Amino acid sequence: MDKKQTFSLWYVLAALVGLILMQEFFTPRHTQTLTYSEFKQALVAGKLDNVVIADGIATGKLRAEGLEQILPKEKLEALKRAGGEHGFATVLVNDPGLVAQLDAAKVRYGSVRESKWLGALISWVAPALVFFGIWWFLMKRMGGGGMGHGMLEIGKSKAKVYMQTETGVTFKDVAGIDEAREELMEVVEFLKNPDRYKRLGGKIPKGVLIVGAPGTGKTLLAKAVAGEAGVPFLSLSGSEFVEMFVGVGAARVRDLFEQAAAKAPCIVFIDEIDALGKARGVGLSGGHEEHEQTLNQLLAEMDGFDTNRGVIILAATNRPEVLDPALLRPGRFDRHVAIDRPDLIGRRQILEVHVKNVKLAPAVDLAVLAARTPGFAGADLANLVNEATLRAAKLGKDAVDMQDFEEALDRIVAGLEKKNRVMNPTERRFVAYHEAGHALVAEMRKNADRVTKVSIIPRGIAALGYTQQSPTEDRYLMRRSELLDRLDVLLAGRVAEQLVFEDVSTGAENDLQRATDLARHMVTHYGMSEALGLATYDARPRPLYLNGPMLPEPRTFSERTAEAIDGEVRRLLDEARERVAQTLGTHRATLESLAALLLEKEVVDRAMLDGLMASTAAPAQLRVAAVALPPVDGAS
Ligand code: ADP
Ligand code: ZN
Repeated sequence: MDKKQTFSLWYVLAALVGLILMQEFFTPRHTQTLTYSEFKQALVAGKLDNVVIADGIATGKLRAEGLEQILPKEKLEALKRAGGEHGFATVLVNDPGLVAQLDAAKVRYGSVRESKWLGALISWVAPALVFFGIWWFLMKRMGGGGMGHGMLEIGKSKAKVYMQTETGVTFKDVAGIDEAREELMEVVEFLKNPDRYKRLGGKIPKGVLIVGAPGTGKTLLAKAVAGEAGVPFLSLSGSEFVEMFVGVGAARVRDLFEQAAAKAPCIVFIDEIDALGKARGVGLSGGHEEHEQTLNQLLAEMDGFDTNRGVIILAATNRPEVLDPALLRPGRFDRHVAIDRPDLIGRRQILEVHVKNVKLAPAVDLAVLAARTPGFAGADLANLVNEATLRAAKLGKDAVDMQDFEEALDRIVAGLEKKNRVMNPTERRFVAYHEAGHALVAEMRKNADRVTKVSIIPRGIAALGYTQQSPTEDRYLMRRSELLDRLDVLLAGRVAEQLVFEDVSTGAENDLQRATDLARHMVTHYGMSEALGLATYDARPRPLYLNGPMLPEPRTFSERTAEAIDGEVRRLLDEARERVAQTLGTHRATLESLAALLLEKEVVDRAMLDGLMASTAAPAQLRVAAVALPPVDGAS
């Protein structure tokens, strides 16, 4: 690229020099410019010949001898140096007697018509040609091709599509994220045996969106898919599509798909797809035409291409919430694979992958290292091994020992703490009891959804842990008793903190907000409060998708009613807290063992939870006990 650029610059320079030379050449060289008075005197003295009058300028021949009285010294000398006859030019003034004087001096004179032709060519066409030339070379340099495709070719040379025919990565290199790996295993199957699926009329997926925090192995996994299937891997970052000029990003998308079609079967990997797939018309100032065009082009290409040719698009993001919903529709990125940060066992497996080629001292215990790195993603662990190895090498050791790892760990943890990605031990205990509280109360409430997983691995920035519940059936209606149980589960995290630490943390903000919303809805929308009866309040529906500033709602009720609503909401929440405190107090031992299990394993799944519940108390009995609790509130 560089070489080409200087090359074309030389052409531009040469063209400019040529233009100057041309001007020089076509302008008559030995021309003496005369003032009009000099011209008249020379005319009278009979020194002129062949006078041509055109456009207010007289040109002709001038005899050099005997002009001493007429011309100043420099002009004379210039004439003498040239010797003999000489061209002259003078600008005419309004002089009606000139023709008579020319006749009297017997000078041949006339006028011309075509004299403008050459001048026009030089002064007008030639510069135009030069600029055309410059443009042509620039286009050629940018486009890497001839004039044929013009601007559109820009996309081709600049989009940095990285192509690897052999990624050399297999699923063996990906550890600790088994669920994601399993889901992508299917994609490998599609690529390997497309006929098996096509024969039965099945549709091969077009796009798979891999969602996960930075460094969790999204790229690695995509490469492994290509490696396992033995197909080329084309990759491009979403930010590469973001360009200043309208149409360039779209051209790149088109180009990417052309290349993919040529290489099929293959994997196309778009990293950071959020850069290109941001929801249209949200949070953008003004009309972002370029962005929209690019996204539209991507959508169109995805709709247009045929998976039977064996192109599967994988895309990665850590911000799935900003993506345009159109991208996630069926036929586009309709499969989603989530990668969590690895748990204890996962971290150990990842460490094992990365120490494969490292000489370890016998004392190095990977299980200990895994236990000391909660919150680390795969990339952080790879970094840990690398730092430790570097340190050992610097000190001239024969093998990497535990001390190297300790040092490296301290450095990395400090870095990650700044980025808010690791928790200190106290925070972990808080989160463990908080989540254990949610899970335990969900287990104890007859109408709560079943807990499928409890985790204290941070997910994103806000959630430090989570308790996953999944409903056992599709629901269209919620009964009051179910809503009350849901309130209990929401508040259980906070109540557990209070119970165990006699102190509370900020971690419950989202829980409290959701609980308050729910309670308020029960009072104002569902008619579930005795005190306020069946009337609904502030019936205006909330705009579902707009988070923007809402217009102040015209309140349709009195100040007294507003107070009553607040009072009822408060009462619902207070009563829920009482119920939860009672439940957790009674089953404190179970809470403790669940929290301990969480601290040890980081993730507790359904089976482990069942085991725990069975060993501490009989779940069936507990559920009966929960039903037998005092009436949930005075109303029903
Ligand atoms: P992402 O694309 O999610 O930001 P990468 O796939 O680029 O993360 O991961 C960076 C590096 O971290 C990988 O090259 C690999 O060395 C290491 N890594 C990440 N996750 C894993 C994993 N699950 N198993 C093994 N190595 C991993
Ligand atoms: Zn919570």
